[in-house]
Amino acid sequence: MTTTTDVIDPATGAVFTSVPSLDLAATDAAVERAAKAFPAWRAVAPGDRARLLRRFAALVDQHVDELAELEVRNAGHTIGNARWEAGNVRDVLDYYAGAPERLTGRQIPVPGGIDVTFHEPLGVVGIIVPWNFPMPIAGWGFAPALAAGNTVVLKPAELTPLTAIRLGELAVEAGIPRDVFQVLPGPGRVVGQRFVTHPAVRKICFTGSTGVGKSIMAGAADQVKRVTLELGGKSANIVFADADLERAAASAPASVFDNAGQDCCARSRLLVQESVYDKFLGLLEPAVKGFRVEDPALATAEMGPLISAGHRASVASYVEGSDVAFTGRAPEGDGWWFPPTVLLARSADDRHWREEVFGPVLSVLPFRDEEDAVRLANDTEYGLSGSLWTRDLGRALRVSRAVETGALSVNSHSSVRYWTPFGGMKQSGLGRELGPDALLSFTDVKNVFMAMGDQ
Ligand code: NAP
Ligand code: MG
Repeated sequence: MTTTTDVIDPATGAVFTSVPSLDLAATDAAVERAAKAFPAWRAVAPGDRARLLRRFAALVDQHVDELAELEVRNAGHTIGNARWEAGNVRDVLDYYAGAPERLTGRQIPVPGGIDVTFHEPLGVVGIIVPWNFPMPIAGWGFAPALAAGNTVVLKPAELTPLTAIRLGELAVEAGIPRDVFQVLPGPGRVVGQRFVTHPAVRKICFTGSTGVGKSIMAGAADQVKRVTLELGGKSANIVFADADLERAAASAPASVFDNAGQDCCARSRLLVQESVYDKFLGLLEPAVKGFRVEDPALATAEMGPLISAGHRASVASYVEGSDVAFTGRAPEGDGWWFPPTVLLARSADDRHWREEVFGPVLSVLPFRDEEDAVRLANDTEYGLSGSLWTRDLGRALRVSRAVETGALSVNSHSSVRYWTPFGGMKQSGLGRELGPDALLSFTDVKNVFMAMGDQ
């Protein structure tokens, strides 16, 4: 039986629509349709598959505003961010549309015949998406999966299903067969968990909490199912005394408060060299106080509300009893608002320094020298992202190689660029999305030897 789930606007707390919520039988039926659609989809000529993906990208482009408005309403994203996110789906589709015609294997010299490799699609790929970036994270999975010749079942988060459902409709409009890409809204414990146990699902791409990610990895062992995991983060922003402190301070707020801090790449640990610690906090304070938290539909908004009441309570629990350096402002009244907040860590043992808050909370700690900075940055089970600020090229190279993290930026806060690999070290994840290599993780290598035979 299929029920429905209410969808809430986090800026007001009001229910504004509802969507179907699939049960186990409906999930099984969808997976079986996806499995049935696989042989015909993998047989589509590479150029035709490319054309369908480009058409899908063009339709997303025509609907950027509509998709962005849905995300503002459903997830409280700022309109500027939401337009970028819809544009990112378009760009990722265009990028991987180039893949089907270039998915070449090798010819390996061997005696007695020829040897060639094929990158075979896996079958049905299950993509499980969290609520923090519903559009991009969906696209990073479905675009390369479809390009490589797999069929896809995608489960959006219950809190944020609307843009995924719309993207599913646009795919059909673009001519992609309905059963090749299906969006299945429903609870993680039902729909998502079934991706783990259903034998026709051959790979899972999961983004979300480390706890659920571990359970998916453990469950996948039973069928030796492929997994890509993008989990939590507690990334460091390391500011050395020789850096352009004004630029580093001006850009630090957005590196952690963007999307209200609900970003696995948030630079939520700020490490400042002790010789410039006071000066840097002096530069940071006006930048934090000037961060615009307002109705996310306004073009000037830099930050909207948190996703839910429960999540706001969780974020607040990190601030209670901690040393607050300063805070920004947030609207009062309805909606799940929380002000940008800067906390001074007493030591690297503080809960707010160690755990992923996933809200607009920045923890600050001074460090002595390069070695101390690297030690503190690596003193975490996570390793997703991070930044470092210095004018010394040698130091930039040394620290870049020493920090155990999957995506690092020097004198900027860039993490996600669709041309380059993205993913975590340590418990931040497994595998990489985006960039030239992600495609191959939606395939298995088949080696074929053909004997030359006797003359
Ligand atoms: P979550 O529980 O891991 O949810 C992520 C996705 O997994 C959702 O689609 C969820 O569905 C689904 N799911 C939940 N339980 C599942 C299960 N047993 N089997 C299969 N799928 C399952 O994350 P959350 O509860 O939304 O957020 C909790 C915390 O996770 C956050 O505070 C943050 O620290 C972290 N997080 C990290 C990221 C990231 O980008 N790395 C993203 C989101 C959250 P439903 O939501 O529909 O149940
Ligand atoms: Mg959860």
